[in-house]
Amino acid sequence: MTDSTAPARTEVLLVTGGGRGIGAATALLAGRRGYRVCVNYRSDEASAASVVGAIRAEGGTAVAVRADVTRTAEVERLFTAVDTELGPLTALVNNAGTLERQCRLEEVDEDRLNRIWAANITAPFLCAAQAVRRMSTRYGGAGGVIVNVSSAAARLGSPNEYVDYAAAKGAVDSMTRGLALEVAAEGIRVNAVRPGLIHTDIHALGGEPGRVDRVAPDLPMRRGGQPEEVAEAILFLLSPASSYMTGGFLDVSGGR
Ligand code: NAP
Repeated sequence: MTDSTAPARTEVLLVTGGGRGIGAATALLAGRRGYRVCVNYRSDEASAASVVGAIRAEGGTAVAVRADVTRTAEVERLFTAVDTELGPLTALVNNAGTLERQCRLEEVDEDRLNRIWAANITAPFLCAAQAVRRMSTRYGGAGGVIVNVSSAAARLGSPNEYVDYAAAKGAVDSMTRGLALEVAAEGIRVNAVRPGLIHTDIHALGGEPGRVDRVAPDLPMRRGGQPEEVAEAILFLLSPASSYMTGGFLDVSGGR
Protein backbone atom coordinates (compact mmCIF):
# COMPACT_ATOMS: atom_id res chain seq x y z
CA MET A 1 0.00 0.00 0.00
CA THR A 2 1.30 3.46 -0.86
CA ASP A 3 1.56 6.27 1.68
CA SER A 4 -1.02 8.84 0.52
CA THR A 5 0.83 11.63 2.33
CA ALA A 6 4.02 11.07 0.28
CA PRO A 7 4.45 12.95 -3.02
CA ALA A 8 3.53 10.88 -6.09
CA ARG A 9 5.92 12.79 -8.42
CA THR A 10 9.01 14.92 -7.96
CA GLU A 11 7.66 17.76 -5.90
CA VAL A 12 9.41 21.11 -5.57
CA LEU A 13 8.31 23.11 -2.55
CA LEU A 14 9.03 26.70 -1.58
CA VAL A 15 8.47 27.58 2.08
CA THR A 16 8.62 31.31 2.75
CA GLY A 17 10.12 32.06 6.15
CA GLY A 18 11.32 28.46 6.31
CA GLY A 19 14.27 29.01 8.61
CA ARG A 20 12.45 29.18 11.93
CA GLY A 21 9.23 28.19 13.70
CA ILE A 22 6.34 26.70 11.72
CA GLY A 23 8.15 27.22 8.41
CA ALA A 24 11.22 25.30 9.60
CA ALA A 25 9.11 22.40 10.89
CA THR A 26 7.26 22.33 7.55
CA ALA A 27 10.47 22.36 5.51
CA LEU A 28 11.98 19.55 7.61
CA LEU A 29 8.90 17.34 7.36
CA ALA A 30 8.59 17.98 3.63
CA GLY A 31 12.26 17.11 3.09
CA ARG A 32 11.70 13.86 4.99
CA ARG A 33 8.67 13.08 2.79
CA GLY A 34 10.67 13.46 -0.43
CA TYR A 35 9.99 17.07 -1.46
CA ARG A 36 12.87 19.11 -2.88
CA VAL A 37 12.70 22.14 -0.60
CA CYS A 38 13.61 25.80 -0.94
CA VAL A 39 13.98 27.37 2.52
CA ASN A 40 13.42 31.10 2.13
CA TYR A 41 14.55 33.47 4.87
CA ARG A 42 14.89 37.22 5.26
CA SER A 43 17.70 37.79 7.78
CA ASP A 44 18.44 34.69 9.89
CA GLU A 45 20.87 32.92 7.55
CA ALA A 46 22.18 30.57 10.25
CA SER A 47 18.75 29.14 11.05
CA ALA A 48 17.92 28.62 7.37
CA ALA A 49 21.30 26.92 6.82
CA SER A 50 20.64 24.65 9.77
CA VAL A 51 17.27 23.53 8.31
CA VAL A 52 18.90 22.86 4.94
CA GLY A 53 21.70 20.93 6.67
CA ALA A 54 19.19 18.79 8.57
CA ILE A 55 17.27 17.92 5.39
CA ARG A 56 20.47 17.03 3.54
CA ALA A 57 21.71 14.96 6.49
CA GLU A 58 18.62 12.78 6.08
CA GLY A 59 19.34 12.33 2.37
CA GLY A 60 16.97 15.03 1.11
CA THR A 61 17.46 17.96 -1.25
CA ALA A 62 17.22 21.55 0.00
CA VAL A 63 18.56 25.02 -0.68
CA ALA A 64 18.33 28.26 1.31
CA VAL A 65 17.50 31.49 -0.53
CA ARG A 66 17.50 34.92 1.08
CA ALA A 67 14.67 37.21 -0.03
CA ASP A 68 12.37 39.74 1.59
CA VAL A 69 9.05 38.44 0.27
CA THR A 70 7.38 41.85 0.67
CA ARG A 71 9.46 43.11 -2.31
CA THR A 72 8.47 42.29 -5.89
CA ALA A 73 12.02 42.15 -7.27
CA GLU A 74 13.19 39.90 -4.44
CA VAL A 75 10.20 37.58 -4.88
CA GLU A 76 10.96 37.31 -8.60
CA ARG A 77 14.59 36.50 -7.82
CA LEU A 78 13.50 33.91 -5.23
CA PHE A 79 11.23 32.07 -7.68
CA THR A 80 13.89 32.19 -10.40
CA ALA A 81 16.34 30.62 -7.93
CA VAL A 82 13.85 27.80 -7.30
CA ASP A 83 13.45 27.24 -11.08
CA THR A 84 17.20 27.07 -11.53
CA GLU A 85 18.27 25.15 -8.44
CA LEU A 86 15.38 22.73 -7.84
CA GLY A 87 13.27 22.53 -11.02
CA PRO A 88 9.63 23.35 -11.80
CA LEU A 89 7.72 24.54 -8.73
CA THR A 90 4.82 22.31 -7.67
CA ALA A 91 4.06 23.59 -4.16
CA LEU A 92 4.17 26.85 -2.20
CA VAL A 93 3.68 27.43 1.51
CA ASN A 94 3.03 31.11 2.22
CA ASN A 95 4.33 30.94 5.77
CA ALA A 96 6.36 34.13 6.36
CA GLY A 97 4.49 36.53 8.60
CA THR A 98 5.00 38.91 11.45
CA LEU A 99 3.35 40.89 14.21
CA GLU A 100 4.38 43.83 16.39
CA ARG A 101 4.09 44.93 19.99
CA GLN A 102 0.78 44.28 21.70
CA CYS A 103 -1.36 47.42 21.92
CA ARG A 104 -4.85 48.78 21.39
CA LEU A 105 -6.01 49.80 17.92
CA GLU A 106 -5.86 53.54 18.64
CA GLU A 107 -2.10 53.27 19.29
CA VAL A 108 -1.34 51.87 15.83
CA ASP A 109 0.19 54.28 13.30
CA GLU A 110 0.42 54.30 9.51
CA ASP A 111 3.98 52.97 9.33
CA ARG A 112 3.13 49.97 11.50
CA LEU A 113 0.01 49.24 9.43
CA ASN A 114 2.05 49.33 6.23
CA ARG A 115 4.58 46.89 7.69
CA ILE A 116 1.85 44.52 8.92
CA TRP A 117 -0.02 44.60 5.60
CA ALA A 118 3.22 44.10 3.64
CA ALA A 119 4.45 41.07 5.58
CA ASN A 120 1.12 39.33 6.07
CA ILE A 121 -0.88 40.31 2.95
CA THR A 122 1.37 41.67 0.18
CA ALA A 123 3.92 38.86 0.57
CA PRO A 124 1.50 35.93 0.11
CA PHE A 125 -0.15 37.76 -2.82
CA LEU A 126 3.20 38.35 -4.57
CA CYS A 127 4.34 34.77 -3.98
CA ALA A 128 1.00 33.25 -5.02
CA ALA A 129 1.14 35.26 -8.26
CA GLN A 130 4.58 33.85 -9.12
CA ALA A 131 3.40 30.34 -8.23
CA VAL A 132 0.26 30.58 -10.40
CA ARG A 133 2.33 31.74 -13.38
CA ARG A 134 4.44 28.59 -13.04
CA MET A 135 1.83 25.99 -11.99
CA SER A 136 -1.39 26.92 -13.81
CA THR A 137 -2.38 24.88 -16.85
CA ARG A 138 -3.42 28.27 -18.30
CA TYR A 139 0.29 29.01 -18.71
CA GLY A 140 1.34 25.48 -19.67
CA GLY A 141 2.12 24.37 -16.10
CA ALA A 142 1.40 20.95 -14.62
CA GLY A 143 -0.68 22.14 -11.66
CA GLY A 144 0.29 22.47 -8.03
CA VAL A 145 -0.71 23.33 -4.49
CA ILE A 146 -0.62 26.47 -2.39
CA VAL A 147 -1.03 26.46 1.39
CA ASN A 148 -1.43 29.78 3.17
CA VAL A 149 -0.55 30.08 6.85
CA SER A 150 -3.35 32.18 8.29
CA SER A 151 -4.18 32.30 12.00
CA ALA A 152 -6.95 31.66 14.49
CA ALA A 153 -6.55 35.42 14.99
CA ALA A 154 -8.54 35.88 11.76
CA ARG A 155 -11.56 34.45 13.63
CA LEU A 156 -10.82 35.88 17.07
CA GLY A 157 -9.73 39.44 16.16
CA SER A 158 -6.93 39.59 18.78
CA PRO A 159 -8.44 42.39 20.93
CA ASN A 160 -5.93 44.32 23.10
CA GLU A 161 -3.05 42.56 21.35
CA TYR A 162 -2.92 43.11 17.58
CA VAL A 163 -6.16 43.74 15.73
CA ASP A 164 -4.03 44.80 12.74
CA TYR A 165 -2.36 41.38 12.54
CA ALA A 166 -5.72 39.61 12.95
CA ALA A 167 -7.23 41.73 10.17
CA ALA A 168 -4.29 40.91 7.90
CA LYS A 169 -4.90 37.20 8.48
CA GLY A 170 -8.58 37.84 7.66
CA ALA A 171 -7.34 39.11 4.31
CA VAL A 172 -5.32 35.91 3.89
CA ASP A 173 -8.52 33.91 4.42
CA SER A 174 -10.33 35.96 1.75
CA MET A 175 -7.42 35.50 -0.64
CA THR A 176 -7.44 31.75 0.03
CA ARG A 177 -11.11 31.53 -1.02
CA GLY A 178 -10.83 33.88 -3.98
CA LEU A 179 -7.66 32.44 -5.45
CA ALA A 180 -8.83 28.86 -4.88
CA LEU A 181 -11.93 29.52 -7.00
CA GLU A 182 -9.96 31.49 -9.58
CA VAL A 183 -7.56 28.61 -10.30
CA ALA A 184 -9.66 25.56 -9.36
CA ALA A 185 -10.05 24.54 -13.02
CA GLU A 186 -6.35 25.18 -13.74
CA GLY A 187 -4.87 22.33 -11.67
CA ILE A 188 -4.05 24.37 -8.57
CA ARG A 189 -5.50 23.78 -5.11
CA VAL A 190 -5.34 26.58 -2.52
CA ASN A 191 -6.06 25.99 1.16
CA ALA A 192 -5.05 27.49 4.49
CA VAL A 193 -4.17 26.41 7.99
CA ARG A 194 -5.21 28.56 10.93
CA PRO A 195 -2.82 27.81 13.80
CA GLY A 196 -3.74 28.73 17.35
CA LEU A 197 -1.07 29.47 19.94
CA ILE A 198 2.11 27.76 18.81
CA HIS A 199 5.49 27.73 20.59
CA THR A 200 7.68 29.88 18.30
CA ASP A 201 9.70 33.11 18.49
CA ILE A 202 6.87 35.21 17.02
CA HIS A 203 5.40 36.01 20.43
CA ALA A 204 8.60 37.83 21.46
CA LEU A 205 7.86 40.33 18.66
CA GLY A 206 4.64 41.15 20.48
CA GLY A 207 6.69 41.90 23.61
CA GLU A 208 5.61 38.73 25.43
CA PRO A 209 7.88 35.73 24.74
CA GLY A 210 5.97 33.67 27.33
CA ARG A 211 2.53 34.41 25.84
CA VAL A 212 1.74 30.78 24.99
CA ASP A 213 2.45 29.58 28.53
CA ARG A 214 0.41 32.44 30.03
CA VAL A 215 -2.65 31.62 27.94
CA ALA A 216 -2.23 27.82 27.99
CA PRO A 217 -4.33 27.17 31.14
CA ASP A 218 -7.30 28.84 29.42
CA LEU A 219 -6.99 26.84 26.20
CA PRO A 220 -9.38 23.91 25.64
CA MET A 221 -6.48 21.41 25.56
CA ARG A 222 -4.63 23.29 28.34
CA ARG A 223 -1.49 23.62 26.21
CA GLY A 224 -0.04 25.48 23.26
CA GLY A 225 0.84 23.69 20.05
CA GLN A 226 4.19 22.69 18.60
CA PRO A 227 5.34 23.83 15.14
CA GLU A 228 5.52 20.15 14.12
CA GLU A 229 1.78 19.76 14.77
CA VAL A 230 1.03 22.58 12.32
CA ALA A 231 3.52 21.17 9.82
CA GLU A 232 1.60 17.86 9.74
CA ALA A 233 -1.59 19.71 8.71
CA ILE A 234 0.30 21.71 6.07
CA LEU A 235 1.82 18.51 4.63
CA PHE A 236 -1.65 16.97 4.46
CA LEU A 237 -2.91 19.96 2.46
CA LEU A 238 0.13 19.77 0.18
CA SER A 239 -0.29 16.06 -0.45
CA PRO A 240 -2.56 14.02 -2.73
CA ALA A 241 -4.35 12.92 0.48
CA SER A 242 -6.27 16.23 0.25
CA SER A 243 -6.83 16.02 -3.53
CA TYR A 244 -10.50 17.08 -3.35
CA MET A 245 -9.92 20.02 -0.97
CA THR A 246 -9.61 23.57 -2.23
CA GLY A 247 -10.64 26.90 -0.74
CA GLY A 248 -10.69 25.19 2.66
CA PHE A 249 -9.32 25.85 6.13
CA LEU A 250 -7.81 23.58 8.73
CA ASP A 251 -7.91 24.97 12.26
CA VAL A 252 -4.85 23.70 14.11
CA SER A 253 -5.65 25.41 17.36
CA GLY A 254 -6.34 22.78 20.00
CA GLY A 255 -10.03 23.67 19.92
CA ARG A 256 -9.44 27.39 20.44
P1 NAP B 1 8.60 32.99 13.56
O1 NAP B 1 9.13 31.89 14.41
O2 NAP B 1 8.72 34.40 14.02
O3 NAP B 1 9.24 32.84 12.10
C1 NAP B 1 8.88 33.74 11.11
C2 NAP B 1 9.63 33.41 9.85
O4 NAP B 1 9.17 34.30 8.82
C3 NAP B 1 11.12 33.62 9.98
O5 NAP B 1 11.79 32.54 9.33
C4 NAP B 1 11.38 34.93 9.24
O6 NAP B 1 12.64 35.01 8.59
C5 NAP B 1 10.30 34.87 8.19
N1 NAP B 1 9.95 36.20 7.67
C6 NAP B 1 9.30 37.21 8.29
N2 NAP B 1 9.16 38.26 7.45
C7 NAP B 1 9.73 37.88 6.28
C8 NAP B 1 9.92 38.53 5.03
N3 NAP B 1 9.50 39.78 4.81
N4 NAP B 1 10.55 37.85 4.04
C9 NAP B 1 10.99 36.58 4.25
N5 NAP B 1 10.84 35.91 5.41
C10 NAP B 1 10.22 36.56 6.41
O7 NAP B 1 7.03 32.81 13.28
P2 NAP B 1 6.06 31.54 13.32
O8 NAP B 1 5.34 31.57 14.59
O9 NAP B 1 6.74 30.32 12.88
O10 NAP B 1 5.01 32.03 12.22
C11 NAP B 1 4.92 31.47 10.92
C12 NAP B 1 3.55 31.81 10.38
O11 NAP B 1 2.56 31.26 11.25
C13 NAP B 1 3.28 33.32 10.30
O12 NAP B 1 2.54 33.61 9.14
C14 NAP B 1 2.42 33.55 11.54
O13 NAP B 1 1.60 34.67 11.40
C15 NAP B 1 1.64 32.26 11.59
N6 NAP B 1 1.04 31.93 12.89
C16 NAP B 1 1.83 31.72 13.98
C17 NAP B 1 1.21 31.42 15.18
C18 NAP B 1 1.99 31.15 16.45
O14 NAP B 1 1.39 31.09 17.54
N7 NAP B 1 3.30 30.99 16.38
C19 NAP B 1 -0.18 31.33 15.27
C20 NAP B 1 -0.93 31.57 14.13
C21 NAP B 1 -0.31 31.86 12.94
P3 NAP B 1 14.03 35.26 9.41
O15 NAP B 1 14.27 34.00 10.19
O16 NAP B 1 15.06 35.47 8.38
O17 NAP B 1 13.78 36.44 10.30
